[in-house]
Amino acid sequence: MCDITKIRQDFSILSEKVYGKPLIYFDNGATTQKPRCVIDAIVEGYEKRNANIHRGVHFLSQQATEAHENARKTVAQFLNAKEQREVIFTRGTTEAINLVAFSFGEKFCQTGDEIVISAMEHHSNIVPWQMLAERRGLKLRVIPINELQIGGSQKGELRLDEFEKLVTEKTKLVALTHVSNVLGTINPVDEIISIAHKKNAKVLIDGAQAVPHLAVDVQALDADFYVFSGHKVYGPTGIGVLYGKTELLEQLPPYQGGGEMIQSVSFEKTVYNELPYKFEAGTPDFIGSVALAEALKYVQHIGLKNIAKHEHALIEHATNRLLEIPDMRIIGTAAQKSGVVSFLVGAIHPYDLGMILDKMGIAVRTGHHCAQPLIDLLGIPGTVRASFGLYNTIDEIDYFIDALKKAVQLF
Ligand code: PMP
Repeated sequence: MCDITKIRQDFSILSEKVYGKPLIYFDNGATTQKPRCVIDAIVEGYEKRNANIHRGVHFLSQQATEAHENARKTVAQFLNAKEQREVIFTRGTTEAINLVAFSFGEKFCQTGDEIVISAMEHHSNIVPWQMLAERRGLKLRVIPINELQIGGSQKGELRLDEFEKLVTEKTKLVALTHVSNVLGTINPVDEIISIAHKKNAKVLIDGAQAVPHLAVDVQALDADFYVFSGHKVYGPTGIGVLYGKTELLEQLPPYQGGGEMIQSVSFEKTVYNELPYKFEAGTPDFIGSVALAEALKYVQHIGLKNIAKHEHALIEHATNRLLEIPDMRIIGTAAQKSGVVSFLVGAIHPYDLGMILDKMGIAVRTGHHCAQPLIDLLGIPGTVRASFGLYNTIDEIDYFIDALKKAVQLF
């Protein structure tokens, strides 16, 4: 790993104080802080290149268009997509999944077909499929996870044996998170994809919690669709990515209608634009795309292998130190974990712990983390979730553990 002290200097917010205490930011699963280069890209975009893209013949518009299309190239390289046109800019993971649920559903799904998701999905990877199921008369199947006994620590890994039974010739698509935002489990998506493909099912991977932590190669995975959000990988809010294989995207109808996604319009008939523009109706976030590309370059410069190694050490240290606390329950103890440590202490409500930690300057998330079905399945009121980023340190974890011990004593 590069010099963390130096990295932290790129994130001025990390030197802020809250309630007079140094900020410890452990809510990276919700959103990450932005390095200087990303903030600069946004400011520079508005100060120097602000013109609508793809439309103008004038200098500024051409500059803005070039920057936006270069950003697409950076994303394609980041994911190792075969072609730039396989990268569609969306508002985020949620919009990307909704796009696929609509367009894939329109093209390929009939009454009686099935969509397979898992027990550990974020609402964003449940609700769009439920909406599709309702619209088209489909059935939603759910891959269970292992070791769900109440009271013990939950392992929280996918039951691959059950998955093999669930995926049949009726399955049109498997939509699965790469990394769980609650349990931290890294799912064996390569294995899942190869099993699904044997049954002719397509696979969408929700990479919202993976892309900031692991190197992703969509070609090596053979993913049909891969989605992520810019703001979780040190980029801006309001921009995200849908990767899709060309041959699939070519077949799907557009998601939204409007400018940019058309080749020609008459009152009788509209001819849609080619990829990727067919799926990008309206003025794209051409400032956000460039800032996102900066974020991806920043991450690549540090190196995803280095980041993964550093964060793995943080997770291990946090887990070991949390277990010093009596009545500690770590929620999610999969062999392969990334990003987050979720926990509960005795009968203390997660919200109460989160409130006290906040007063000590520590930002953690509490609640169901938009994965209510998983929390219900676990029979718990929610969790306290500490989620780490590339700038977090062992010292911060030690500070957090001391604060947590004090907080627990108050109950
Ligand atoms: N999927 C997962 C696994 C997530 O963690 C999140 C964000 N918490 C989302 C989807 C939704 O991302 P966004 O709100 O940026 O669309």
